Amino acid sequence: MVPTSVILSPKSYTVVEVEYLESLQDESEKISTLEQQLGLPVSVRSDDTDIVVVKELVPNPCPICHHPLKFLRELIERFENEESNLIRCPLGHRYSGILKVYHLNIFQRSESAETEQKITECPKCHRHNIQYLGPTEMFCLDCDWDSGMVARYRV
Ligand SMILES: [Zn+2]
Ligand SMILES: [Zn+2]
Repeated sequence: MVPTSVILSPKSYTVVEVEYLESLQDESEKISTLEQQLGLPVSVRSDDTDIVVVKELVPNPCPICHHPLKFLRELIERFENEESNLIRCPLGHRYSGILKVYHLNIFQRSESAETEQKITECPKCHRHNIQYLGPTEMFCLDCDWDSGMVARYRV
């Protein structure tokens, strides 16, 4: 799974702006500074707010050779542009797949989230490469385990 962009509501953006970007004058400079810090494109929108967009190609690994896909960001971009529904694995197999798109709420925190024990070990492969995307949304960087995140829509 790959986070691809951050969408903030105007209200949240104002909070971030006051806290971190006050010293900057130019509006586009503020956005690009924020993008550099997050490592993701940022947009401010009022309709679909405070989310991280996360994308995933399925199936992964390759069903033919079982090699996990590499350069996911580039593969996802190509998949979206080509509209052929074909995924290419590192060994060159082409197989049909789908792109799942997740919208994860980033600022919604449950009261118990603070006191809950953070998961650091993957329940499936037992390695310590858990990536958090929200208070309760996480996935393993080493295998295909995730916290049961639900795709909001499929392309
Ligand atoms: Zn393959
Ligand atoms: Zn794992």
